[in-house]
Amino acid sequence: MIERVGILAIQGDVEAHRHMLEGLGVAVSEVLSERDLDAVDALVMPGGESTTIAKGIDRLGLQKALQKRIAAGMPVLGTCAGAILLAREVENHPVAVLGAMDVTAVRNAYGTQVDSFAAPMDDDAAPGLEDFRCVFIRAPQLTNPGPGVDVLARVDGKPVLMRQGNVMAATFHPELTSDSRVHELLLATQ
Ligand code: GLN
Repeated sequence: MIERVGILAIQGDVEAHRHMLEGLGVAVSEVLSERDLDAVDALVMPGGESTTIAKGIDRLGLQKALQKRIAAGMPVLGTCAGAILLAREVENHPVAVLGAMDVTAVRNAYGTQVDSFAAPMDDDAAPGLEDFRCVFIRAPQLTNPGPGVDVLARVDGKPVLMRQGNVMAATFHPELTSDSRVHELLLATQ
């Protein structure tokens, strides 16, 4: 049972995730050390700038501890830059990723012309996610999913929410809407 959710608080959209999670009735704390990580049952890796967050993970010496907890089954949700950091590799930029999900991330995949937009999930989204409106901000795409990866939702045919066991990655920002269903999926992860 998830009682306390950590938010990796190096940079990015920490407060909006906190607000969403507290609204769902769980305790929330910031994660900036191995000790902080030990104290939580699940983790959110927020959007922001993946290169900056990756440098912070390195500076804090957190990479191995994160990989170990995730491999041991800790539920984790990475959103946007957080999703990039969960990937196996980044196709178009040298980012030190955690390699927790068997996908390739493509940074800023929607180009600079369309920095930000909102769009509903396609009709084939997993049950419970119907009509979820996704907010994209300089969003990545996740490609080449391995056999263990389930696509939970697409927008315009492109995967935007994926799950591999305890690891969930969203290329959009569920914390920037009032719709808490993606966070509820994290809290329901066994
Ligand atoms: N473009 C950012 C990156 O590549 C991600 C944007 C976001 O998290 N909103 O890190």
